[in-house]
Amino acid sequence: MTAFESAKEMGYVALVEKINAVSLMEYGLCPELFMDRVFRANENPEKPFVYAGLNNADVDLALLELLSKDPEKIFDGIDIAGMLTDAGAKFLYLPVNCTALADELRNKAGAHGIILVNDIINVRETEKDLILHIVTACDLADLALGTYEAGVYVKTGEEPLKKVPADTPVSDLVSLDGAKAVYLGYRLYTPEEAKALTAKDASSALIRVLTEKDCIVDETARRLLLDRTASCGKCVFCREGLIQLEYMQKEITQGRGKAEYIDLTQEIGSVMGDSTLCTVGQVSADIPLDAIAKFRGEYDSHIKKNQCPAGVCTSFVHIYIDPQTCTGCGDCLDVCPADCIEGKPKFIHMIDEFDCTKCGKCIEACEEGAVQQTSGKLPKLPDRLTKVGKFKKH
Ligand code: SF4
Ligand code: SF4
Ligand code: SF4
Repeated sequence: MTAFESAKEMGYVALVEKINAVSLMEYGLCPELFMDRVFRANENPEKPFVYAGLNNADVDLALLELLSKDPEKIFDGIDIAGMLTDAGAKFLYLPVNCTALADELRNKAGAHGIILVNDIINVRETEKDLILHIVTACDLADLALGTYEAGVYVKTGEEPLKKVPADTPVSDLVSLDGAKAVYLGYRLYTPEEAKALTAKDASSALIRVLTEKDCIVDETARRLLLDRTASCGKCVFCREGLIQLEYMQKEITQGRGKAEYIDLTQEIGSVMGDSTLCTVGQVSADIPLDAIAKFRGEYDSHIKKNQCPAGVCTSFVHIYIDPQTCTGCGDCLDVCPADCIEGKPKFIHMIDEFDCTKCGKCIEACEEGAVQQTSGKLPKLPDRLTKVGKFKKH
């Protein structure tokens, strides 16, 4: 028997009792009792619609695994929400970039009378209807099947999504040894802060540990790009704010950062939350605000010292050939895709930094270990072709 068949057999009253018995909360940024949402939607003089989806701000898509793994369960959960509200129509919204998944599921959803849409949910236009997260749909199906277990979903590393007790310490879910920072849903924390947090703080399910090899500014720019792609552009502060925020972080990673970008990021970020309609605008500024508040030193290194402490931002990385070690074999020259290595047999080879794309192929090719990488100052290097063994350091 499917979850929806089981819910129908149970009937409205028994089902509501089951939902109330576990105090089922709507998942997401504004948790509230699910049945309060249902009652509010039922006050709609028209038949309310049911809109299911991720939070618009779930740009890491960690929770989408629930749908891709067991779509029928999610469809059943949406059907149950439809039954509770006597819905006029049922929709499942998928992020705009998930068209392949939508195409794959469209017919199956259609068999449930569910219309699949690739878009973000317009919170203002749907306030009289029932919006539910796909996690809530999953919980409804589990309740109907008698398989419900309280908890929250988390996704760590390459492991599949799993449900754990909400009070599970983050330190039990991921190793914080050697951590520089921790992404927990929509926020960025120091390892010390993360030690005091639990699974329920991972709002979008994703827990990701950043180490010394990760650059906070680069990660922030990457995250803002995802948010910018998710923005529908209706709110000026989300549309323009995200463009500006991403631009400034990107400029900083590319060695063109200015001191005023820090203040400007804080200024724009602090007003976005109150001036936007949905979770994309409301939470996307938190990551750059957290990054600046907690990892200011990393921003200062990029802007003031022209250094990326993690060695990730290639604009600050120099690749050069150590004139004392080079034997003039020419192996690096042969593999350089940018054709920016000058040399001839038995002469010390030289890299033209201007054209170098920092692909690292010459480092792999040089068996002598003469090709070096540094984010610090370059040593004295030859300025013209010099015979091996003839270059003087001073
Ligand atoms: S905050 Fe506004 S512009 Fe941004 S995604 Fe939501 S509705 Fe669209
Ligand atoms: S840098 Fe390495 S690969 Fe290139 S010429 Fe010198 S020794 Fe050969
Ligand atoms: S890093 Fe790549 S582009 Fe630069 S010199 Fe080496 S092989 Fe050429």
